Amino acid sequence: MIENRIQLIFVKRVKQGVGMYVVQIASECAPVIKAGGLGDVVYGLSTELESRGNCVELILPKYDCMRYDHIWGLHDAYKDLWVPWYGGAIHCSVYCGWVHGRVCFFIEPHSQDNFFNRGCYYGCDDDNMRFAFFSKAALEFLLQSNKRPDVIHCHDWQTGLIPVMLYEMYKYYGMGSQRVAYTIHNFKHQGMGGAEILHATGLNREPYYFQYDKLRDNFNPFAINFMKGGIVYSNSVNTVSPHHAWEAHHTDVGCGLSHTIGLHENKYRGILNGIDDQFWNPQNDRYIPEHYSIDNIDAKAKNKKALRERLLLRDVNKPIVAYIGRLDAQKGVNLVHHSIYHALAKDAQYVLLGSATGADINAQFQYEKNYLNHNPDVHLELSFNEELAHLIYAGADMIVVPSNYEPCGLTQMIGLKYGTVPIVRAVGGLVNTVFDRDYETGKPPEKRNGYVFNDMDYHAVDFAMERALWLWHNEKDQYRMLMKQGMECDYSWNNPGSEYLGIYESIRDK
Ligand code: ADP
Repeated sequence: MIENRIQLIFVKRVKQGVGMYVVQIASECAPVIKAGGLGDVVYGLSTELESRGNCVELILPKYDCMRYDHIWGLHDAYKDLWVPWYGGAIHCSVYCGWVHGRVCFFIEPHSQDNFFNRGCYYGCDDDNMRFAFFSKAALEFLLQSNKRPDVIHCHDWQTGLIPVMLYEMYKYYGMGSQRVAYTIHNFKHQGMGGAEILHATGLNREPYYFQYDKLRDNFNPFAINFMKGGIVYSNSVNTVSPHHAWEAHHTDVGCGLSHTIGLHENKYRGILNGIDDQFWNPQNDRYIPEHYSIDNIDAKAKNKKALRERLLLRDVNKPIVAYIGRLDAQKGVNLVHHSIYHALAKDAQYVLLGSATGADINAQFQYEKNYLNHNPDVHLELSFNEELAHLIYAGADMIVVPSNYEPCGLTQMIGLKYGTVPIVRAVGGLVNTVFDRDYETGKPPEKRNGYVFNDMDYHAVDFAMERALWLWHNEKDQYRMLMKQGMECDYSWNNPGSEYLGIYESIRDK
């Protein structure tokens, strides 16, 4: 198999001390499987690590609804993978293909459970079983195919049981040298289950795992908690920005895991996400009609025109305010909703691209969409559309991110890269990336890049938006300078890549 030969070459280089062998295991990888920022991060980090001479492979579920058009050369890699499950075994096939240069293995189980043929990535009643199975299958694949990475990098609750199974089971089967780095992208979703998870995965031993220092949920005594397992058993744990790391440890944003973090704080930290320089770059973005850079920023206007044409907005001398993201309580949907009407009242246009995570929020925005349907200054697009997202980043003047909480946030960083000024609430990674033009005290004026507000209320977002809109209308040169200062920020994978490599180096078995 060609991927095995490639791996052998890399493993040889690794032995020569050139790089490391890293396997990323996750439920998403952009652009083939993407529901939000997790997919971007898994792809972007893998690309960065590989560009530095490491061997990186990814293990993902083979969903029926993923973007197969982004996979090159999909072929059988391991035909008969039998994964122990509930005392029996489930037959799986493993496929291999290249996703924009990354080697990805996709696991397809053949059972009546139909774990990954549901037409969706998440949102099923048995999500905990689906991803417990995926975790088990990923480890079994590594074991049976003789892959022995230096570091297994697991992401979010879906893979929280991997370090548990590695250190309680697989280390005795010949995987004693593997180490786990665990990244938490969102504390809100932790993955809970009862004793049936232990029996299905073969962990068994209920009294042992239901101890508080193992997997027992800190608040529900009848549940084991996947994410808690990830924190307890991994060699290193991080979340995706320094400020959110602090919030999760010291405030209710840890969603019940603050105490566990405190117990494991020596191996816990925050590392800011990056954005992929090739995929998110106005100089070569394949989805936008006019490329531009900091040196010809005025060419951005052609993208604004294209955006208006595409969404049937009228061509007038007004700024376009945008929102791109999931429509979820986390994102401060009431403030998103409010910002639409505030922008319209203050002589601006508004574009929203979002997919709702719940039926009630969907109904609310569907109602607004119908209500505003004939207004030539606003367009609400209630879907997930990667191509349109690029055009909006390139065509809009400002992007609002009024999140309730935000572990890192990518949309403000992408906005900065495209000269689209962010207006954000001061939470999580937004604190680490956006600095208020008028009020930031920790940065000199030439290092400031957007607008920031603190409170979770209408007045706060209004005030920040008004300051941005005023500058756009009245001080065009100043506004252009602010755009450029944002474009100068380096939120690439360069720094985070070094930090992750530092972690891998510190935990690997030497
Ligand atoms: P989260 O991971 O909480 O959803 P992030 O800000 O970390 O939020 O990442 C969001 C990513 O998903 C960005 O790349 C953004 O462009 C993309 N995205 C979110 N919603 C949509 C959508 N409806 N259509 C296209 N892309 C979207």
